[in-house]
Amino acid sequence: MPATERPTTVEALLADGTTAAIRRLGPADRDAVFGLYTTHLSADSLRLRFFGASRRAPALAADRLCAPPRPDLIGLGAWVDGELVGEADCELVDPAAGDAELALAVADAWQHRGVATLLIEHLAHAARDRGIAALVADTLAENRAVHQVLTDLGLPVHRRFRQGEVLVRVPLDENDPHYRDAVETRGRAAGIASLAALLRPRAVAVVGASRRPGSVGQAVLRKIRQNGFTGPVWAVNPHAATVAGEPAHASVAALPGVPDLAVLAVPPAAVPGAAEECGLAGVRALVVLTSGLTADQGRRLLHACRRHSMRMVGPNSLGIAHTDPAVRLDAEFGGAHPLPGTAAVAVQSGGVGIALMERLAWLGTGVSAFVSLGDKYDVSGNDLLQWWEADGRTDLVLLHLESFGNPRAFARTARRVTRTIPVLTVDAGRSAAGRRGAASHTAAAATPTVTRQALFRQAGITATRSIAELVDTAALLRAQPLPGARGSVAVVSNAGGIGILAADACTEAGLHVPALPDDLARALREVLPAAAATANPVDTTAAATPAELRACIDLLADHPAVDALLVCLVPTALVDRPDRAPLQALVDGPAHRRVPIAAVLLDQETPVRHLAAHHGLLPSYADPAAAAHALAHAVDRARHLARPDTPVAVPATADTGTARGLVDAFLAERPDGGWLDPARTADLLGCYGLPLTTTLWERDEPGILAAARTLCGTGHDGQVVLKAYWPDQVHKSAAGAVRTGLRTDDDVRDALHDLRGRLGDRMAGAVVQPMAAPGLELLAGVVQDEVFGPLVVLGLGGTATEALDDRCARLAPLTELDHDYLPAELRAAPLLRGAAGDPPVDRGALHQVLAGLSRLALDLPQLAEAELNPLIAGRGGRTAVDARVRLEPRTAFDPHLRQLRRWPGTDAP
Ligand code: ADP
Ligand code: MG
Repeated sequence: MPATERPTTVEALLADGTTAAIRRLGPADRDAVFGLYTTHLSADSLRLRFFGASRRAPALAADRLCAPPRPDLIGLGAWVDGELVGEADCELVDPAAGDAELALAVADAWQHRGVATLLIEHLAHAARDRGIAALVADTLAENRAVHQVLTDLGLPVHRRFRQGEVLVRVPLDENDPHYRDAVETRGRAAGIASLAALLRPRAVAVVGASRRPGSVGQAVLRKIRQNGFTGPVWAVNPHAATVAGEPAHASVAALPGVPDLAVLAVPPAAVPGAAEECGLAGVRALVVLTSGLTADQGRRLLHACRRHSMRMVGPNSLGIAHTDPAVRLDAEFGGAHPLPGTAAVAVQSGGVGIALMERLAWLGTGVSAFVSLGDKYDVSGNDLLQWWEADGRTDLVLLHLESFGNPRAFARTARRVTRTIPVLTVDAGRSAAGRRGAASHTAAAATPTVTRQALFRQAGITATRSIAELVDTAALLRAQPLPGARGSVAVVSNAGGIGILAADACTEAGLHVPALPDDLARALREVLPAAAATANPVDTTAAATPAELRACIDLLADHPAVDALLVCLVPTALVDRPDRAPLQALVDGPAHRRVPIAAVLLDQETPVRHLAAHHGLLPSYADPAAAAHALAHAVDRARHLARPDTPVAVPATADTGTARGLVDAFLAERPDGGWLDPARTADLLGCYGLPLTTTLWERDEPGILAAARTLCGTGHDGQVVLKAYWPDQVHKSAAGAVRTGLRTDDDVRDALHDLRGRLGDRMAGAVVQPMAAPGLELLAGVVQDEVFGPLVVLGLGGTATEALDDRCARLAPLTELDHDYLPAELRAAPLLRGAAGDPPVDRGALHQVLAGLSRLALDLPQLAEAELNPLIAGRGGRTAVDARVRLEPRTAFDPHLRQLRRWPGTDAP
């Protein structure tokens, strides 16, 4: 049995939010399985499961499932709180077709709660690793429950009818988009169900509320009470009869009711015990404020949560708050009480949370919820996004996360949520030093920069560089319409110098400040004083009256050439109320504006605030650069929304079966993995239509000469290329192992002797290729990130690729649009479009290469890295003249498999 088949347990949520543990059945489970059949199934269920076969059928089935492991049989059990509630198994019955017969049993008391579906999802996952192509079942036609489960699965179901029996066949296709959607929808619903106790609790207990004033527990207890929680709140403290003047209870079990949520503020050593006590009492969610847990305490805490179906925020959390009038829970020990509103805030670090809440308070922005995630053992940013997406109150999400537990899942969720709600984050841990800090500061390791940026962009998340920028951007997005995706900004000021600074700031932030069209400039001249400048920036001069300013703003805001307006005002002494008058022009505008306006008031005291304008709130900044960055983020968001959510791109060729065979054969020879040789590299890439030039690998001189003669006809200008080969080679040209431009036999012979002379016995022959026509050298590849899964990378290639460091990455699978945007993000993008007189790179051809790489990575979890460098894009299309592929032994990590976060270091199932 391969090492990967140890019966590890994974936990996942049932439809109602209950946590179920899923693992392979083994000999120790025999009695439990027999008990499930004989005492937890009704006579009817038993008959449907065993077709009314002999009375010994349950015992035989239990024996078979719980025998020592067999490669052709997979049996999974689902446990809730230690009780076996269901089993699903499949046994290979037709190895040629890859058909495995499916059987299921769910305890009567647990039916219709998603047990069978969850089991089949996990069974299908395990079955695919064993080469099982389809699940088949002979079922009684009246067994509606099973038919429903199979139909709802999301996979195609083929049925044949035969005398009251239905023969069902369900082909397993891991990439089936319907299946993936169905799994995801189920996961989302279950996640939301499980979070209700945390985010809409009806009763709350504070465990460890101490008598000591200023203690965390007491502070939280007071805040919950003072800020008007709508349900009962109880203090638990075995050592005190009263806390903060109210009676305390000796234990959770002794409370007058069962709280949905318990806030734990006990010392680290007491946390696992307190969690267990809560679980036994029926608590459904925990917020753990305690920090400094040892690894063992942490593991036991998470175990208690999983066993008792409790979701958990923390440990090391500052707490949570909800302003929903039906809840009004303020269970955090940060500074101020969060104002009610519609922005949701999740932070990993409590300190950042306090700073962020303070700035939002300046702005007068209220929150729907505030969650300090702390060390994120369980509840993650992803869980919260799904909740806020559906809570009907939240219209803006602010996140400060230092790491992603399951970034591929997060990216998927964010991609969907950002279509309707802006999601802003601080890209924390951008620098190596920052990452070091993030890693030591929270338990989770932080993710590298390229990947984070790829993730954010792809997911439509607005990633700012600081908390200040986050708040600046939120201030704009909350209050103003989105700008046009072109990003053309008109800058207006009543003092020319400030306008110039603002125009510079806009350009530096990536916005356009185009010269205004003639008609607009003419119209502006008619309303402004004679000395005014009407190019862009527009300088109204200090002499402009409020009415003139207003007319100018209206003209600009209504003109189709303008996507956004930045208005910078300095107080002037020329009108009655020198400090207010120019401003009045801004706040007076019409009730609706087509484009957003950001104001810059150089004399304002806070960096950002909201002015009450006639058409709503108007964000006003003290610094033009802050306004420019906020506008730039808004333009990015507009662009994101303007791009349709496109399907995953499919390569023209994908021979997954052959590719998997190649990988298995290689890993059978080299169990530790390594680089593929030239022949296997070519074969594997060929399965995905990846265009590696003809590459002949020969060991001796006659073979090499013959290969060169064969290929010179196809080479550019009749030339060939000779490259020394040795196993596990990485950089050839650096080792002097590449000789290009060879024309004659003598050239080839001389080059070969030269290579031999320098590399000696290390050489295991040489590779001969036709010389490619000159063109732009690109790099296209895939890297598997342990955290993110596969990333597709595109960059400027050739031997100088590392020095140039011009690369962009996207998470696989790429969508149709990722294909278009990936090349556009390179600094070298103009070269791809055909600057410098060269023909533009064939986009369709590049698209196919990227789609092939994306699919290669998804199909083959063992692919550690693959790189085409250079991929030469020239007049003749595109050809890779160098490719490297490295494989590693590893099992499929399926980001679509529903499972809760596991304690670090435990193996995947
Ligand atoms: P490595 O990347 O290991 O140093 P490559 O095989 O990529 O070796 O070769 C280095 C450079 O030589 C390439 O970037 C390319 O410029 C050139 N080159 C290699 N093979 C060919 C070929 N078949 N046709 C044209 N140029 C080639
Ligand atoms: Mg190369």
